Amino acid sequence: MLELNTVTFAYPAGDEVLSGVSLKVEKGGLLGLAGANGSGKSTLLALMAGLYAPTGGSLEVAGRVSPGHEGDIRLVCRLVMQDADLQILGATVEEDLLLGRGRDEAVTAEARTMAERLNLLKYWDRPVQTLSWGTKRKLCLAAALLDRPRVLLLDEPFSGLDYPGVREMRALIRANREAGLTQVVSSHDLEPYIDLVDALAVLDNGELVLNGPAETVLDRVAEHAVRAPGSWTACRTIQPWDGETGR
Ligand code: ADP
Repeated sequence: MLELNTVTFAYPAGDEVLSGVSLKVEKGGLLGLAGANGSGKSTLLALMAGLYAPTGGSLEVAGRVSPGHEGDIRLVCRLVMQDADLQILGATVEEDLLLGRGRDEAVTAEARTMAERLNLLKYWDRPVQTLSWGTKRKLCLAAALLDRPRVLLLDEPFSGLDYPGVREMRALIRANREAGLTQVVSSHDLEPYIDLVDALAVLDNGELVLNGPAETVLDRVAEHAVRAPGSWTACRTIQPWDGETGR
């Protein structure tokens, strides 16, 4: 469903921030993308979402190839950014979820069902600026899911969430997987999702240094000189998060 072949990327007039990244995610798979801040996670997600084209190598999302078909990729792939304020366009929850979809009864009913599923219906008429950080992120996720993407990319979905927020985000990611959605979840912190992923890819300074089953990757983080955040040592062995069963 998602395949990268030696993808390289440099921002205009900038140094290379991704070098020769190759990876694959099968349909319905959940890839964890880990790495210290600045290692290139958000840039890689933006390429997968068709927001930029690689400057070297190529990638394929649900059969659409980049460079060349970024517009087609954007039709089948949704990226939920870390900063919801960059993505929310409506003035209220209702307006944001209905934006660009028309307002006929079926569309409204579908948006309300999605809002209910994500526990947002109680905020339906609320101005978006009154919502918490976590609620805004859920609103972006709801809008992304309404577009019925083939691939969903979540950039640091757990950052700034409190304990119930993390629990809720985990449940949503698991429900997406049960629905067969292909997902990539990036996080510099492993604890909230390490037990959920099918594979873990580790970026270090723009290079994919490790990729494979989470257990194997964690074993190798110690022996590899990866710039791993300190919190990773707490994840040496994979434990179910707060007693929840993972996969
Ligand atoms: P991460 O998501 O792992 O924190 P990023 O993809 O945001 O990493 O950043 C990777 C590198 O690309 C960093 O060195 C960052 O400064 C640089 N970078 C990110 N966005 C831009 C941009 N719009 N223009 C130039 N450089 C950028």
